[in-house]
Amino acid sequence: MFTQMEYAGTSDLHLYHDKASSLKAVIAIHSTTLGPAIGGCRFLPYSNSKDAIKDALQLAKGMSYKAALAGLPHGGGKSVIMLPDNAFDRQVLMRSFGQCIEQLQGRYITAMDSGTLTSDMDEIAKSTRWVTCTSTSGDPSPYTALGVIEGMKSAVKHLFGKNNLEGIRISIQGLGHVGMAVASHLSLEGAHLTVTDINNDLIKAALEEFNAKAVSPDDIYAADVDIFCPCGLGEVLNEKTIGSIKAQIIAGSANNQLLSPKDGYALHQRDILYLPDYVVNSGGLIFVALTHASEDQQTIHHQVANIGKTLTNFFSTSQSSSIPPFALANQKAEAILNNAASPTHSDTRANL
Ligand code: NAD
Repeated sequence: MFTQMEYAGTSDLHLYHDKASSLKAVIAIHSTTLGPAIGGCRFLPYSNSKDAIKDALQLAKGMSYKAALAGLPHGGGKSVIMLPDNAFDRQVLMRSFGQCIEQLQGRYITAMDSGTLTSDMDEIAKSTRWVTCTSTSGDPSPYTALGVIEGMKSAVKHLFGKNNLEGIRISIQGLGHVGMAVASHLSLEGAHLTVTDINNDLIKAALEEFNAKAVSPDDIYAADVDIFCPCGLGEVLNEKTIGSIKAQIIAGSANNQLLSPKDGYALHQRDILYLPDYVVNSGGLIFVALTHASEDQQTIHHQVANIGKTLTNFFSTSQSSSIPPFALANQKAEAILNNAASPTHSDTRANL
């Protein structure tokens, strides 16, 4: 376990078990250098606790990088609740998880993620104040979707010199909270959509609502499109899938899309412009962090719109340096974190 923590650079890992509520949960805190760790809570089936821990560790690191590049005063954290395979009371389980967060006294602030709902956050809020995305503060997914659209526009401008997404062919993998919101924006922008999901009801809903074409989950990679938008789960960009991708741009909300950095370089070699996932999907975190800090809607929208500018800068530097945008983003995030952790930085802050 310590090897995994060392690999992910995680500062602390918390495991919780409560028999009465069937809770088995993991909270991984990657860094609190820039401020309290913030990041969503997944509530999904895991085949074993090792997979749940691995997911939390990898996702927490991405959250630190995401917060750093979005200029937010937060570190990265992530939690995972293993979906029980026995009967359980969801509200009791969420309140029990809230008590775990409370023990950390603000080192970790939770939020919605795959498998959790605003109603879950409401239950967690009964045990702790270190929670966002309640029914009063709202769902971050629409803001994540807005950021993905900004990212797509910046990439289309960079590669095709076009100022909008009209007529652009886009495939969406995963029609959940973010994927469906992205599809809705794209449909209004006049893009041509190809969609997939493992849930047929969601595909049916998308076909009814948008003028989309559906393909099977396995066929989405080879779809003849300009942009591939992964909005399902992670590690979908790997040596099995990259060879069949026809899109010139990859821009989606899923966290940890690359199985490993070598897959990012493989995309670059194929001249596929891969938008670093934790930059293009940072709209939700921006919403969550700024809402928690009681900022207004205008400030939130302004900062989400900046995602496009951040990416455009990475594209330009990538062109002149031949370093892929994902590697440039990693370098910049690491520099921000290292600089904030350096003694000189702390001294300066202490003197202010
Ligand atoms: P969600 O659970 O609502 O939706 C995910 C969808 O992907 C589901 O409909 C699921 O059936 C589908 N899916 C899963 N595996 C698939 C596969 N192999 N092929 C096709 N479809 C598949 O989750 P969400 O909130 O929409 O988030 C989507 C992704 O974006 C996740 O990786 C999440 O961590 C990431 N993300 C979400 C937010 C947010 O604001 N919700 C913010 C940042 C990142």
